Formats: sequence, structure tokens, C-alpha cells
Amino acid sequence: MFTVTAYAAPSATEPLVRTTVDRREVGPHDVLIEIKYAGICHSDIHTVRGEWGETPFPLTPGHEIAGVVTRVGAEVTKHAVGDRVGVGCMVDSCRECVNCLAGQEQYCLNGMTGTYAAVGRDGTVTQGGYSTHIVVTEDFVVRIPDGLALEVAAPLLCAGITTYSPLHHWGAGPGKQVAVVGLGGLGHMAVKLAHAMGAEVTVLSQTLNKQEDGLRLGADHYYATGDQETFKKLANTFDLIINTVSARIDVDAYLSLLALNGSLVNVGAPAEPLPVNVFSLFSGRRSFAGSSIGGIRETQEMLDFCADRGIGSEIEVIPADKINDAYERVLASDVRYRFVIDIATLS
Ligand code: NAP
Ligand code: ZN
Ligand code: ZN
Repeated sequence: MFTVTAYAAPSATEPLVRTTVDRREVGPHDVLIEIKYAGICHSDIHTVRGEWGETPFPLTPGHEIAGVVTRVGAEVTKHAVGDRVGVGCMVDSCRECVNCLAGQEQYCLNGMTGTYAAVGRDGTVTQGGYSTHIVVTEDFVVRIPDGLALEVAAPLLCAGITTYSPLHHWGAGPGKQVAVVGLGGLGHMAVKLAHAMGAEVTVLSQTLNKQEDGLRLGADHYYATGDQETFKKLANTFDLIINTVSARIDVDAYLSLLALNGSLVNVGAPAEPLPVNVFSLFSGRRSFAGSSIGGIRETQEMLDFCADRGIGSEIEVIPADKINDAYERVLASDVRYRFVIDIATLS
């Protein structure tokens, strides 16, 4: 084992502080990554505040990791020293179940290993990317294409893949009406990706405050959900709605915006259940679904797609001592559109 500098939450009610975490020695199939940038995902905040259940403290969050390989194990074939690489929300899975074999490791039937707050296959609690280095098995490390700067690539590892996967699965493309609820970290990536896939894109935000940005990012239309007229005007419109809101929404109201056979796909992960009236599903044969991140193969595909189309995340780079302030701003929906920690400020 060796020790690296990190930021960690001591408990659910205390701010994150500078500390150290232990990393395992680089095994035959492992790579050691010097982390350059780490994005701040709202899931980091849900987790360190204990909103999703018990969190193992102290905890170093961070699952939008971009960096450079500085050492590889003797049997590593996929990555080499000097490669620009990323790590997202998973660092391992069983690799044997039907879902793993299909490249859908995020749905591993034996439980994928989260990048932080999970018990790793070696029995230790995983610690995430708000740190200078991480050791990850080569199969869960992806290549960051040359055309993407590391800081704008970092948020693609969660916000990017979490929106790319359902857009792809539910067929966002030419002739499709896609709405994105919530213009935050995930939402702004959903807008960029759906636009690049050729869909007609509508942003549904609480207010019109970010309208100019939304249109610049690729949206064709922008509406405020705080205005009840929006729900009347857009009734029966969308083939696909991606809900990225981190808090409770009125699911029935959003289902009423779906066209025949449309799907409302929830990627937002509030702690509270979201009640649904089944009659909202009957009319128009609508679906209410969920989606979790994406597999490793699909994550690489998404990164290549982004590099090809010149798509990166819109970011605000912060030093590590501003992490707690950034959390407050995310909670106040004051993020434009992802905070990314410059890990050089940690060491
Ligand atoms: P974020 O940057 O905070 O964005 C969430 C957006 O939702 C806000 O910018 C805001 O947009 C809107 N919003 C916030 N509170 C709201 C409220 N009370 N009512 C209505 N709208 C509200 O968060 P994020 O990092 O994108 O993450 C979003 C959610 O996805 C989180 O719950 C996170 O845990 C979850 N997540 C899920 C997965 C998955 O695999 N399914 C992966 C990553 C994250 P406007 O200001 O435009 O209204
Ligand atoms: Zn995330
Ligand atoms: Zn599995």
C-alpha cells in the first residue's frame, strides 16, 4: 500500500478536508493514474451527505477522473505509461454474469464496484478521484482521445455517459423530439449529445435564467417549468424525456408531455420515491424508465463520439480548497455547468 493526498468528508455533516487515502500496490493487471482533473457530480453530494443510505466515512468522492498513466502492471496490455485516460463510476465488476459479458457492467448481477463508497473485490472501501493518484484494473480504464482536453473530458466519465447511454438506447436522432429536464451537469451534456445525434431538443428548466446558454449548447427550444402554461403548451409532444433533476418532480405532469409510445427516463436520483399515477401511463402507452451510467465499451464509444464532434463539458475549474463552496453552489442550481477540481492544487 501507499498513501496519497486527497480531500475527504469526515462525516455527513462536516465539510470536506484535506487528508490522505491508501492505494493498493499496482498489481499485474492494474494501472497507476496520476489524476489531473476530477469533476464534481451531484451524486458525490448525495453520497457524502448520507442521502442514499449509510456512507462509509471518512470518504473521498469523485468518479469523473481524467489523468495520465504513470505505471502499469506486468501483464497490462490496454494502456501504457504516458497515456491520457479516464475512470468513471465503476472500478470493477464480476466480469462473469450475463450483463458483464454483454458489456453492461453497470448492471452486473453480482454488483459492480463503485469508484467510491463501495467494498472493492479486495475487501477495502473504494476511495474516489478527489486525490492525486488512483490504482485501477486496466479493464475499467478508458482512453481519452487526443482531441479532448483532460479538464473538459473529466465530466464525460459520469455526466456524459449517463446521458449518452439512454439517448442512444431510446433512439434519440433525426425526427425525434427530445426534452431534457434540468440544465445542470447531466442536463447540459444531454442537450449537447442529443443535438449532436440529430434530435430536436427542448430544455425544461425551472426558470428562463439559463435560456441563452441552453440555446447555445444546442437546444432548439427552452421553457420554464415554473410556468404552468408550459405543461399545457407542450402536452403530448416528446418521444423521449430525460429527467436529470436531483430532487423530487411531479412525474405525472412530465408524463403528460409524452407523445404516443413516448418514454420518460429518469437519471436524476433523489432520495425520495417518485410516485406515479398509472393512468398517466395508460394514456398514450407511455413508459416511465430509469437508466444507470453506461458500460465500459459504451463509455469509450461516447468519448470517441465527443472527440469526433468536438464536444466537451462546459466547466468551471476550481482549486481543491473551493470544493465545499462548489457543493453549495451545485445545491443552489448555480453551476455552469460542471465544477472540475484542478488536482495540481491538492499536492
Ligand atoms: P446538478 O448539476 O445539480 O443538476 C441538476 C439540475 O436539476 C439543476 O441544475 C436544476 O436545473 C435542476 N433542479 C435542481 N433542484 C431542482 C428542484 N428542486 N426542482 C426542479 N429542478 C431542480 O446535478 P447532476 O450532477 O447533473 O446530477 C443530477 C442527478 O442525477 C443527481 O440526482 C445525481 O445523483 C443523478 N445521477 C444519476 C446517475 C445515473 O447513473 N442515473 C449518474 C450521475 C448522476 P435547472 O436550474 O435548469 O432547473
Ligand atoms: Zn456522477
Ligand atoms: Zn457481473
